[in-house]
Amino acid sequence: MNFNTALLHQSFDGEKATGSTLVPVYQSSAFAHESAEKLEAVFNNKAPGFAYTRISNPTVDSFEKRVAAMEKGIGAVACSSGMAAVTMSLLNILESGDEIIAGSALFGGTIDLFGDLEAFGIKTVFTDEVTAESVEKLATDRTKAVFTELIGNPKLNVTDIKAVSEAAHKRGIPLIIDSTTATPYLINPFEFGADIVVHSSSKYINGSGNSISGVIIDSGNFKWDTKRYKGFEEYKKFGKFAYLAKLRNGIWRNVGACLAPMNAYLNSVGLETLGLRMERLCFNAKRLAEFFEEDGRVTVNYPALDSNPYHELTEKQLKGMGGAIITIRAGSKEKAFKLINSLKYACIATNIGDVRTLVIHPASTIYTHSTTEQQVNAGVYDDTIRISVGIEDIDDLIADFRQAIDKTEVI
Ligand SMILES: *Cc1c(COP(=O)(O)O)cnc(C)c1O
Repeated sequence: MNFNTALLHQSFDGEKATGSTLVPVYQSSAFAHESAEKLEAVFNNKAPGFAYTRISNPTVDSFEKRVAAMEKGIGAVACSSGMAAVTMSLLNILESGDEIIAGSALFGGTIDLFGDLEAFGIKTVFTDEVTAESVEKLATDRTKAVFTELIGNPKLNVTDIKAVSEAAHKRGIPLIIDSTTATPYLINPFEFGADIVVHSSSKYINGSGNSISGVIIDSGNFKWDTKRYKGFEEYKKFGKFAYLAKLRNGIWRNVGACLAPMNAYLNSVGLETLGLRMERLCFNAKRLAEFFEEDGRVTVNYPALDSNPYHELTEKQLKGMGGAIITIRAGSKEKAFKLINSLKYACIATNIGDVRTLVIHPASTIYTHSTTEQQVNAGVYDDTIRISVGIEDIDDLIADFRQAIDKTEVI
């Protein structure tokens, strides 16, 4: 099955019981059964069925299966948000005293989370770029996870997954990739050696910015050494499903990080058009980035431009496409604000992956809690504007940005 066909038909066949072409919103907390024996069986995973929506729900289950299929994983666990997915993907394997190696150009919320985890004895060692060399240099006996974004938001640095996963695996460490900005349309990270993939499905998978959600997908490939990952001892019996079984029966369920059925429904609907939207978004982003480069009045950063340092990795891993985020530098904070305020179509909002174009000044918003050094490491300067390109007609977008840049000329 090719990509767009798979979005509609892979691991999905509507709902057999009623013929509904979508799995409806099962807006129910509990599921009743005809006998105590039946509920006992469902509760103990001895019979298929649902008991309680914090643990599983038909609408959520369908979303999980469809996303897992699109990422070519063995299964998925949906979460209440992208941050919940990032948190749960790590806490499922970490304990006090453990270390994470992570890129310093991560999403601001993830950087803040790693700070929060210090209170629980989990330390994060940051590196400018997660590369095979940095993993080899920074890994210790305590390192239990390498975490990075495939296309960093907002630095737009591209990780060489094959090289990094090989270096991590040599040390018995799994590679967890936040692939939010790439989506399965650009890459299946498992094919390059990643072990776990997380998405903030609030973004491109949803596509219209109408609900927050996250998802964790497992490749099933990582061999969890129970001497290093002690919590896996009792899940050994699940074989390659050990990580997912541990997650579902442990921290994820007990924290209560479940996805609401309504949001799972909205995300399933969004997922169906991921291919169409990404095709258009990547086309628009490339054209807009080329406009900025030719125009020359702002500095542009977009991985798929020939002049970009990540161009080769983009060709190698992302089919030559750079996703839908561009950053530009306007020259000063004042000019950046003037440019943003002069745009007619772009919404000034802190989100990405919407069908409409969104812009934000990261230094004064998402990165306002970060130090200047953290900001610079994340590719955020005082004059940086992040653009989440939408599906508007490209000529309108270019005209809009051109007139907004014109307005900054007078400052
Ligand atoms: C938005 C985002 C997150 C957090 O997701 P939420 O759904 O907002 O919790 C994590 N990683 C990346 C790359 C993101 O863009």
